[in-house]
Amino acid sequence: MFDACRQVVIVTHVSADGDAIGSSLAMAEYLKKKGKMVRVIVPNYFPDFLRWMTDADKIVQYDRHRAAAKTYISCADLIICLDINEPARLDDLATPIVASNAKKMMIDHHLQPKRFCDLIISYPDASSTCELVFRLIDAIGGVGQLTKAAAEDLYAGMCTDTGKFSYNANDPDIYIILSELLRKGIDKDKINRRIYNNYTEARFRLLGYILSEKLQVFPELHASLFTLTRDELSRFKYLKGDTEGVVNMPLEIKGMKLSMYLREDTEKPRILASLRSVDDFPANRMAAEFFGGGGHLNAAGGNLPCTMQEAIEIAHKALEAYRPLLVDSHASQG
Ligand code: 5GP
Ligand code: MN
Repeated sequence: MFDACRQVVIVTHVSADGDAIGSSLAMAEYLKKKGKMVRVIVPNYFPDFLRWMTDADKIVQYDRHRAAAKTYISCADLIICLDINEPARLDDLATPIVASNAKKMMIDHHLQPKRFCDLIISYPDASSTCELVFRLIDAIGGVGQLTKAAAEDLYAGMCTDTGKFSYNANDPDIYIILSELLRKGIDKDKINRRIYNNYTEARFRLLGYILSEKLQVFPELHASLFTLTRDELSRFKYLKGDTEGVVNMPLEIKGMKLSMYLREDTEKPRILASLRSVDDFPANRMAAEFFGGGGHLNAAGGNLPCTMQEAIEIAHKALEAYRPLLVDSHASQG
């Protein structure tokens, strides 16, 4: 597929994260070095803490540059869909992608991939799509050609999708891959600082507000919930990505199994849900049953077309429905 193509479009999911942007830019870099014309298109805004990556400034944002993006898509002979398992994750960008006659390839680590691509590379056990991109390049003998910039991108995605290698990161091969990336000369300490020590003052204070004013803990359920309305977000000069990762923090409380975060979307009239869990608590099942979404066992999300008050009621119903699994405290103590 790579040899035959000339013009490549790479797409990834709405509200792209480190794994989405990292895998897209690394794949783009690899294919550009092979002489291909490559464009990365994302559905909407992606966070500033990812903009240090080489060529991040060349990413086309579909919600702002529709005509240009459509032209690139119509000229493409290969479309690579990264870190997504279904067209819905592309939001409005799904329409021109699904309609395109180009060959399509999916590289992803979410469960139950939908069959909208000619070639599907799906490994739900993988830590990240970046890990899969590395493995693919390795399998076709390309690691020698991998540049330092691509190695930085892949490191960033693997690091962010595993919470700095603290979950989903027991596969020993991950550390062999990391060693290969470090051999490319990347400065992982600096990348960590660029991603994590990059708070604005407002974002840092929002974190304090969440933890001291908004977090509700349900000790007997080993669960917690926090919510943020648009008003609260604007009080803290919220920018997309500002609360990225915060949903993991309540899991640092002893014995916690589940953390729930509900946020009023700043673009559409809906509530976005983020769920994080530990051990075998199925956050993805809860997301599918109650929040119209899905995801991984321990990291899932969804969205609800309702008010915050209604979403909070749904969250309480979800907690009640999963009470038997939550009250049993043995699983998380290990
Ligand atoms: P986050 O909480 O970071 O927004 O999302 C965590 C994970 O949940 C994502 O990697 C994705 O797998 C899944 N997810 C989030 N939102 C949705 C959604 O609306 N639909 C589906 N199917 N999965 C979602
Ligand atoms: Mn991912």
